[in-house]
Amino acid sequence: MPTISRKPVSLLSKIVLFMLLLATPLCLHADSIFGTIADPSGALIPGVRIEITGRNLVQPLVLSSDTGGRFSSPDLASGTYTLRVTRDGFEPLTRTVELQGGVKLELSLAIARQRVDVNVSGKGGNYGNSDPVYRGLRGLGLGSTFHFDHVSVPLDVGTFEFQQGTLTFLNPVNGIVTGAVFIGEGHFNLKPVNALDTQELKRRVGSPEFDEDFTEVVLRFTGKAHQIFLHGLGDHAETPGEAAIAFDNWKQRMRQRREVPLGFTEEVLHGEDMDNVDADLLAAVYNPAHPPFLNAYIRGKKHKDLRFFMRTRVGALPQLDSPEEVALINYDPESMDDGVWYLDHLKSEYQNRTASSQEDRRLFATHSYKIETVISKNGHLFSTATITFQPLIEGERVMKFGLLPNLRVTRVSDDQGQDLYFIQESRKEDGSFYAILPKAVDAGKDSSITVQYEGDKVLEHAGEGSFYVRARSSWYPNLNGFGEHALYDLTYKVPRKYKVISVGKLQGESVEQEYAVSHWITPIPVAVAGFNYGDYKKIEVADTITGYKISGYYLEELPDNLRRYEALQSMAPQGMTKYVLDQTRAQLQLCTYYFGKSPYDEIYVTEQPDFNFGQSWPNLVYLPISAYTDSTQRWMLFGNIDSKFTGFVQEVTPHEVAHQWWGHAVGWASYHDQWLSEGFAEFSAGLFLQQGVAGNWQKDYIQFWDRLQRRILEKNNFNVAPNDAGPLWMGTRLISPRSESAYQQVTYAKGAYVLEMLRSIMYSPEDHDKAFIAMMHDFVESHREKPASTESFKAVVEKHMSKNMDLSGNGKLDWFFDEWVYGTLVPKYHFEYQLIPAEDGKVKLHMTLTQSEVDEHFAMLVPVFVDFGKGLVRVGQMGIAGNATRSTDVLLPAKPKAVVLNAYKDVLAR
Ligand SMILES: [Zn+2]
Repeated sequence: MPTISRKPVSLLSKIVLFMLLLATPLCLHADSIFGTIADPSGALIPGVRIEITGRNLVQPLVLSSDTGGRFSSPDLASGTYTLRVTRDGFEPLTRTVELQGGVKLELSLAIARQRVDVNVSGKGGNYGNSDPVYRGLRGLGLGSTFHFDHVSVPLDVGTFEFQQGTLTFLNPVNGIVTGAVFIGEGHFNLKPVNALDTQELKRRVGSPEFDEDFTEVVLRFTGKAHQIFLHGLGDHAETPGEAAIAFDNWKQRMRQRREVPLGFTEEVLHGEDMDNVDADLLAAVYNPAHPPFLNAYIRGKKHKDLRFFMRTRVGALPQLDSPEEVALINYDPESMDDGVWYLDHLKSEYQNRTASSQEDRRLFATHSYKIETVISKNGHLFSTATITFQPLIEGERVMKFGLLPNLRVTRVSDDQGQDLYFIQESRKEDGSFYAILPKAVDAGKDSSITVQYEGDKVLEHAGEGSFYVRARSSWYPNLNGFGEHALYDLTYKVPRKYKVISVGKLQGESVEQEYAVSHWITPIPVAVAGFNYGDYKKIEVADTITGYKISGYYLEELPDNLRRYEALQSMAPQGMTKYVLDQTRAQLQLCTYYFGKSPYDEIYVTEQPDFNFGQSWPNLVYLPISAYTDSTQRWMLFGNIDSKFTGFVQEVTPHEVAHQWWGHAVGWASYHDQWLSEGFAEFSAGLFLQQGVAGNWQKDYIQFWDRLQRRILEKNNFNVAPNDAGPLWMGTRLISPRSESAYQQVTYAKGAYVLEMLRSIMYSPEDHDKAFIAMMHDFVESHREKPASTESFKAVVEKHMSKNMDLSGNGKLDWFFDEWVYGTLVPKYHFEYQLIPAEDGKVKLHMTLTQSEVDEHFAMLVPVFVDFGKGLVRVGQMGIAGNATRSTDVLLPAKPKAVVLNAYKDVLAR
């Protein structure tokens, strides 16, 4: 997501949530009705509504079963009570009890009878969570148990040694076994296949291999993996009680979701787009050709929740934009060891040289979205989305969508209007949305489904006429997130006094009763759709040079949370919008010159009520209010010149405008490659400070790179600098409890630096940026509407590299990428020079350069600038390799005032 700031989870909310968890009722009262509720297979059902009436209750008492399917009423007077028990997908149950002391009930709900009549009310009622095979998986129980001793199971880089114990298979569903539970003694080992992951594992666990003894493993897998475990089976055995407990605990853990995640792994694995493992297994049960996967949940002696995943095609951690199939996660959200410890391609892919960030992870390709959205006066959202798609794998029937779990699906139908089964557990559980096709549709042929959904949490009132638009990419059901470009047809119906500014071109506006209706279409496929909403005023400017149509939208009122600031009362939104539009125009011109044509001929720049958070959508830019403040207001606000914040305000508009190229015209393939979006947008902000402003640019420009350098190298409380966390290529995996901001700082700042250093070494005193510009145009053209990877970018740079860059003489830039993208070394330079009078009034410049704090292979070209009295002029660059000192002489036409190495901080150095 192209955002410039990420709000960290506050510590306070962590503590509050933790306390809430501890407060779940554990004790039972003497005079109460309590018990459990199970489905027909015996699996306990959470979230069941229990309504108790009778005796002297003035109004019904409503309870809900907890994650373990348990419920318990408060103290009740003795007497007769009636319980009505209801849950979507089940037949309601009524029970009358005579309360005298405590009454324990073990209730079992029957699956709802399927109705074939078309539901005229439009409510999907019986189609949600009630697919019979899904119900079977959801309520699955244990099957046969076998002795399982001295069995070694190698799984890619991991090896399970089952020393002594039992293996209990889960009951088959549709004849397919989808899991097993091991109880006993065993050992797990993981040995990474490549150097970068070995280094990452060392950072995490302190050694190049990982070893752990375990007592319990829950396995979930697709059909064929079952056979791996058939080989070592011993005789039949009694099912140990621990197996049932382990499996029940596993179900509970897999199905829980907290509104605010406690740590990184929880955000990835139990966040808004968490997997519903039963739904994932359903995809495999329904399609024998589904890409195989195997998840092992290991209870280790030291680490109680280790997860080893092998998942082909979809990727081991789809939430991370990971094309990689194998992962080891230490799921321990509140510990310092929490994290993704291993994530890499299959060993076999390295052997076959097919490992690539650009592997297609999709199961379905989306071609278009048609979305109609009604926003009511209270901000409630009602939507209908029709998604046109093609399966990419023969036989696929289960589609997983990204959709905010607070948005509740009410109905899913096919192109004939027939209701379809779907899955969406409650928002506090594994509430991701899956649709189930009644049969596989033809690959190579377009099909469509329509989803109706509604809910809150998308729009939040920010004040008079302004709204925060939350759930930025999950307000509609999307299949492949940013990984894919599709066409959008968007209609919004909102209270009359408000305006919607959306992705796409405005097709028409009308008024229907109390509602304003607007219709937007994207002329070309885009990665994501979004909108802004509020009481907006509009200003337009034309750009005669590039032909772009630029519109600005501003809010006349401050949002409530900023009203109390005296400094902001003097804000002049209209005037500042003109200023912001001038910046936008200048940046559009500059980016067009450097990178080629923007994908869109219109751009809408909208003010949003957030203070320090900007975002870019296709042809739509959200700017924070701070972008509309002037230096006086900022000074009044902070009482001093806060250089970091001033920097943010200077950068945010050019950064977000540049995302029209970086992120939108050119996408990114995986979490390794997001620096091609964020780093390049940040670089473009630097370019703007150098070339997009009138007058003296030097000070702001040097301060910009100086700020970036500090962001990369400044150590935190744990004495860890973002750069120490690992190479740029590791992307989001740089985040760890000891380096929480490393991803942000490295991806944005070091990513920008890498592009700036390429620009620097490609620069020539005669042609200036010509070679760099040609390279960037080629990069955009060859990746338009497609995801770029670090490797595909490198190939374009190599096509355009000059002779002096070919340090290894093989036409490759491995040296540069190994140092700056796949490595973490940052050199230190010491520079001295002497000026010696030479013949004809010329001057011999004798320069000595020392490079240190690198290894013997580290090479770099560092620019030298000379000032003859009219400012610094770049005269050349000095090459240097290893920890070494080098001298060189240059003949100058006259005596310079100064000679400066790396004058504009062109090369990242300590
Ligand atoms: Zn950005």
